[in-house]
Amino acid sequence: MEQYKLLTPGPLTTTDTVKEKMLLDRCTWDQDYKETTQKIRTQLLQLAKVSEDDYTAVLMQGSGTFTVESVMTTAMNKKDKALIITNGTYGERIVKIADYIGLHYKHYQVAYNAYPDEWELKSILENDRTITHLVMVHCETTTGIWNPLEMISRLGKAYGKTIIVDAMSSFGGIEMDVGELGIDFLISSANKCIQGVPGFGFVIAKQDKLLACEGNAGSLSLDLYDQWKVMHKDGKWRYTSPTHAVAAFSKAVDELIVEGGIQERFQRYQRNNQLLRKKMEQLGFQAYIPEERQSPIITTFLFPNDIFVFEDFYYYVKERGFVLYPGKLTELNTFRIGNIGEVYETDIERLCNVIQEYMGVVVK
Ligand SMILES: *Cc1c(COP(=O)(O)O)cnc(C)c1O
Repeated sequence: MEQYKLLTPGPLTTTDTVKEKMLLDRCTWDQDYKETTQKIRTQLLQLAKVSEDDYTAVLMQGSGTFTVESVMTTAMNKKDKALIITNGTYGERIVKIADYIGLHYKHYQVAYNAYPDEWELKSILENDRTITHLVMVHCETTTGIWNPLEMISRLGKAYGKTIIVDAMSSFGGIEMDVGELGIDFLISSANKCIQGVPGFGFVIAKQDKLLACEGNAGSLSLDLYDQWKVMHKDGKWRYTSPTHAVAAFSKAVDELIVEGGIQERFQRYQRNNQLLRKKMEQLGFQAYIPEERQSPIITTFLFPNDIFVFEDFYYYVKERGFVLYPGKLTELNTFRIGNIGEVYETDIERLCNVIQEYMGVVVK
């Protein structure tokens, strides 16, 4: 099989040096392995700009959704009520999770290309004093919209609410001062902007908030408190841990730091994204999200004309070295191009040349 570049929002293209770390089989109770886990946990707190006195990092087996579910079932009890703010399918997935767990919540929903309205949210919080938690997706990977974290932070602080942020596709690629923002539970996973491989997710949690969650979880394997309690002792995971993915992740975090940290990675993603938007526009593709709300992670494009067939386009581009992503909107024909991972401007240039070639073929 030819190796192609994944222009998808995770799993994504990782470096060879990250992949090489998976060639060794590791023992879960071995001291070296437990130390790797502890090292990762410390590094994650540094990346989030928080201190070990206030915050703690917990790793959780499974894909990102498992970690979201783990936070929802652990951070809330049956008396709590969440205000879940959504403008995409990942937000809607949190609503679904809340339904499964049987949590109380209010769903505040806006259009996929719109921002939640601060005044409407204020009015909801003024009128319903039973709300205890605010929940929002930071970068909605459904469309690539970059949601206003500062606004949620302001509301959370003003009204004294616990803030849960799904920063799955943004943490590591967009700088966040988690402590300053007052985020209580920030969720992300190994195979997004940190550029590791799939296998686990992680939570940056306000320590006192997490410690108050004992006994909340309605799931044994997803009990974040219990996971923390075991892991915090000496780096031992509860149950089998994804050893290869953890080793790869440890290397990926080191490489992120060598790159210059999140600030530099953000700049690279931003350059990729701006070049992509510009070139695609020249080729006749309109982006769904306006530039001022566009994240540097993934971009949604509308089909350029009525005869455009995504499957045909997809295979043409794949044969020439790039894998794209289908759209996720029901009312519009779209597709998506991610620009995170081991991806550079030269890749975007090459991709756009391939797309130009394809568009030429179709027009003739
Ligand atoms: C990737 C992603 C998730 C988790 O998806 P999984 O397929 O479970 O890894 C959740 N939220 C957002 C915003 C994401 O981008």
